[in-house]
Amino acid sequence: MADAPTHARPATVGKHPCPECGADLQWNAARQALGCPYCGTIVPTPATQPATANGAASSVAGADSGASAGVVEQDLLAALREPASGRGWGQARREVQCQSCHAISVFVDGKVARRCDFCGSPSIIEHAALNDAITPQSLLPFRISESQIRDLLRNWYGSRWFAPNRLKSAALTDTLGGVYLPYWTFDAKASARWQAEAGHYYFETESYRDSNGNTQTRQVRHTRWVPAAGSLQHFFDDELVPGTAGVHPKLLRQVEPFPTLTDLKAYSPEFVRGWTVERYQIDLRQAEKLNQQAMQQEMQALCGREVPGDTYRNLQVDARYDGRTFKHILVPVWLVSYTYGSRSFQIVANGYTGAIAGEQPYSWIKITLTVLLVLALIVLFAMASK
Ligand SMILES: [Zn+2]
Ligand SMILES: [Zn+2]
Repeated sequence: MADAPTHARPATVGKHPCPECGADLQWNAARQALGCPYCGTIVPTPATQPATANGAASSVAGADSGASAGVVEQDLLAALREPASGRGWGQARREVQCQSCHAISVFVDGKVARRCDFCGSPSIIEHAALNDAITPQSLLPFRISESQIRDLLRNWYGSRWFAPNRLKSAALTDTLGGVYLPYWTFDAKASARWQAEAGHYYFETESYRDSNGNTQTRQVRHTRWVPAAGSLQHFFDDELVPGTAGVHPKLLRQVEPFPTLTDLKAYSPEFVRGWTVERYQIDLRQAEKLNQQAMQQEMQALCGREVPGDTYRNLQVDARYDGRTFKHILVPVWLVSYTYGSRSFQIVANGYTGAIAGEQPYSWIKITLTVLLVLALIVLFAMASK
């Protein structure tokens, strides 16, 4: 491997306690540095985390480049054959499972929440912290701090026209939780051969009789079908598959993307201490299948674009995927869960970009009043224009 690290140094974030009081350091999103939760000391970190010697991962030269130094792709087939390559969490941890939404939360050497961060339910029970086959290799540290997210949330609440008024005052009082979500990312080199029937449009003039019995002419479109074939190469880079059970997939789609190609840091317990980490419930095998389906769909679409002519039919794509690698990563989100009436609602904010998506209750009073107002305007307008 040409650019494998030749002399790996230990990570600088790692075993260093607070220089002032000796307590464990935690990631401080507002300062973008490690900080001491007890005495407030801020410890600057280098811009990129150096790579740690990593026996479990096989480095894939050239697959990743740039800023994500120290973040290593792992061979997918090897991991599926022999899934015991975890490096551990680097610290003692506790796990709890929510009895309501079934999300499993991991707490690395710190507080254990009393309510579920995902749905707000208080019925959480201790979950056996079995040794995972695969533990996070890298993560995207929080970049949006709690006070920034409160401002963004207030604006978001304000833009919900049809939400009940109570919702807008909720931004300051609702509990807000910072959670690292589990994701899988996959790379692959795809090569496909395709064949299809390419359709070319042509027009013919036809004559017909109109309703008065006169002969008229019109242009009619036809399609001439010709066989076509070709091949295509495509590189899939960091295709994301969420491993979360706690956040609704629909909301997650709306706050993606997470800049995993450029800004990942090598995992270190300092980054997650004091935050909640969700344990994945879509495992590597399931995620790999979802990734394969998504790539197959994408290849079908890419090959469809290659077919010449105006349209096509009977497209057959024979694709193979080589050099498949994966990473297990954590990405940051802020979560608000609240109940309104008898339903529970979830709001998700991207902890890196600040993008927000959420479920909301609707105020039927406001909607009814708006509909009545619009109807009244229509009636006025109709009367005025007589
Ligand atoms: Zn300290
Ligand atoms: Zn829950």
